[in-house]
Amino acid sequence: MGESMTNLPPDQTAAAAATAPIHKDREIRCIDCTSLFTWTAGEQEFFESKGLVNPPKRCKGCKKEKTRRIEAILNRVPGERIDVPVRCASCDAATTVPFFPSQGRPVFCRKCFQQQRPGTAE
Ligand SMILES: [Zn+2]
Ligand SMILES: [Zn+2]
Repeated sequence: MGESMTNLPPDQTAAAAATAPIHKDREIRCIDCTSLFTWTAGEQEFFESKGLVNPPKRCKGCKKEKTRRIEAILNRVPGERIDVPVRCASCDAATTVPFFPSQGRPVFCRKCFQQQRPGTAE
């Protein structure tokens, strides 16, 4: 038995290590609040295990907020009144509106709203 030194396999272990998914924490800018958040290695693995390929677009807070908005809309009973807390774009008073305002669109309190449309006030 004098042939033990022949044909060691090529550097397969090193190659495998290089192609194995190695996750590192990543910084991602949230598309909603534009602040940087960390997409952790653990979360990346979780995403991969679910077959997801796209990194998250929102930070945890905004994602939660978005989920909450969608749930509120989905769970909404037709005809039921909803109250969404907002600030009036005119007088800055805290008020509620019976709909989910879209981003960037001004929302007014009842008083300012009526002042904007004279003639329709009672
Ligand atoms: Zn955010
Ligand atoms: Zn107002």
